[in-house]
Amino acid sequence: MALNEQNLLEIKDLKKYYTIKSGFRDKNKRVVKAVDGIDISIKKGEILGLVGESGCGKSTLGRSILRLIEPTSGSIIYNGSDILSFKKKDVRMMRKDLQIIFQDPGASLNPRMTIGEIIGAPLDIFGLAKGEAKEKRILELLQLVGLNSDYVNRFPHEFSGGQKQRIAIARALAVNPKIIICDEPVSALDVSVQAQVLNLMKELKQKLDLTYLFISHDLSVVHHLCDRVAVMYLGKIVEIADKDQLYKNPSHPYTKALLSAIPNPDPEAKSERIILEGDVPNPADPPSGCTFHKRCAYRLDICSSKTPCLKGIEKSHLVSCHLYDKEKSFNSQVGNNISNG
Ligand code: SF4
Repeated sequence: MALNEQNLLEIKDLKKYYTIKSGFRDKNKRVVKAVDGIDISIKKGEILGLVGESGCGKSTLGRSILRLIEPTSGSIIYNGSDILSFKKKDVRMMRKDLQIIFQDPGASLNPRMTIGEIIGAPLDIFGLAKGEAKEKRILELLQLVGLNSDYVNRFPHEFSGGQKQRIAIARALAVNPKIIICDEPVSALDVSVQAQVLNLMKELKQKLDLTYLFISHDLSVVHHLCDRVAVMYLGKIVEIADKDQLYKNPSHPYTKALLSAIPNPDPEAKSERIILEGDVPNPADPPSGCTFHKRCAYRLDICSSKTPCLKGIEKSHLVSCHLYDKEKSFNSQVGNNISNG
């Protein structure tokens, strides 16, 4: 399958739908569209940020890419092959190249295993090193993430949150991955520790030529780390742009509201906080048309009946909003192959 040369990963029309019932006796099944037709791609060596409120589907998207959750449909092209067509054995091999770091490092580390065993487990699973070579590699990985090699025989409970996340990073790096899905990797950490872990991730990305999909609800963190940013709302991407474009010229009303909530360290600076109307809609019963229309201060008549699609409003900047329907459409690809409406 042809892959745009620059793109390491291309996700096309990816969907993850869940069928639910509201109660034991409820015969009416409803569909929750957790991920609803996502088209994004990630270039080699870039950090793509994925932001949005809790429950918008960003973690489901991250896990679907690794097939930790089975997507309903779509395609995920990696190395010329569609990951969704892989058999079990191939999925296992794919996970050597695509790793994940979870939000809660405490929960992601087995409390009964020593740090050496945790970091060494992927080496055993993929048959990458044995005996002395394995021990050497474990110590090398500990050093790489800034931990003392003496920690190798200790257990996870003996470490702080930041140290545990460093251990989780070392485990992910053990197999020399190409892409790491970082699912809110610093949101469970103290603010002082967050910066250290983010700087470590940045450093490792350079040193090891890594590519990240960085999932977060914290726009300050995303600004610090990412090259491009995609904003997600109720299972869809509503805006995607290079970081500077998005932060200087947020165009979707939802992105504007998210950015207005970032605290400004300058007390003199005038910033107007946009308070969103209403609550996040029930994903099992989303509003018609633009799913954001009930909370949007800019809504037009068309917004409640017609779903907007992503359209290039400037080079490398796509927005899904009827406010831009009449604007000249840029055929910007934002490093992906989306055909814009
Ligand atoms: Fe608001 Fe309409 Fe744009 Fe949706 S399409 S964000 S409701 S203006």
